[in-house]
Amino acid sequence: MPAGKIIKALSGFYYVLDGEETIQCRGRGVFRKRNITPLVGDYVEFEAENAKEGYILSVEERKNDLVRPPVANVDQAVLVFSAMEPTFSTTLLDRFLVLIESKDIEPLICITKMDLLNEIDEVAKYVSDYRNIGYTVIETSSETLDGIEALADYLHGKTSVFAGQSGVGKSSLLNAIRPDLELKTNEISNSLGRGKHTTRHVELIPAAGGLVADTPGFSSLDFDGLEMEDVSSCFPEMVKRSNSCKFRGCLHINEPKCAVKQAVEDSMIPSYRYEHYLQFIEEIKERKPRY
Ligand code: GDP
Ligand code: ZN
Repeated sequence: MPAGKIIKALSGFYYVLDGEETIQCRGRGVFRKRNITPLVGDYVEFEAENAKEGYILSVEERKNDLVRPPVANVDQAVLVFSAMEPTFSTTLLDRFLVLIESKDIEPLICITKMDLLNEIDEVAKYVSDYRNIGYTVIETSSETLDGIEALADYLHGKTSVFAGQSGVGKSSLLNAIRPDLELKTNEISNSLGRGKHTTRHVELIPAAGGLVADTPGFSSLDFDGLEMEDVSSCFPEMVKRSNSCKFRGCLHINEPKCAVKQAVEDSMIPSYRYEHYLQFIEEIKERKPRY
């Protein structure tokens, strides 16, 4: 039976990419009965009526899904941060990282506008901090095209969602990878600050041997659904050390003989990372109960 991945959903049709071909499919009644709404990103089996049209028969179980934009089976989030304009923010980066780690999506940190940096490189320290933690960090410029090939290599074979503040250079990066798209700059403008409940249309675009969502992900940056205990598991440098804490389930806040606090004191964990951790915990603590 033919199978593929939904790359677009529009007016009751699902566009299923199978190899190089896109088949326009309708869903059969099975979905309504089983309460499944196929999402962009879903792997599906379909029955072809002809070379261009068919019916979706089943949807494979998802490994994850995002709500804004609604897309399933995301492998990778490309966190785009500009070296300057807007200023590089570790608070925002850590917030994105927690949300991504909690969804089991692989993060790729992409620092762009590297051409704007002068010789005193303000972000070099952060690049090395995040690499030490174990994250992949690439440095790019859509102006000089430095690092664009490296980014393309990371897109290969994966479904990726770009994330990052408006104006950091997401559209420019996509244009550098696929100049034929001719996206207007700011076209995939981020919805930080946009109305919270707007569901956005999303389409997966083939790029560099992979698929990229044309709408930025993680437009809502609150920690709904995350518990205090979940946060430290989203900080790899804490996970690595928590076995050495005296107490099982140590939250690394006030507990004695805490290996994480010790590592912060010894400058093995950057203090700003730990401060962001405490800030996120505080935010979750103060969250209003939702009943
Ligand atoms: P988006 O909102 O994240 O999609 O950001 P855009 O791609 O629209 O870029 C916002 C602004 O930054 C535009 O004026 C771009 O020309 C500029 N820009 C984007 N990437 C770079 C870069 O690598 N270097 C420089 N110097 N400017 C860039
Ligand atoms: Zn601890």
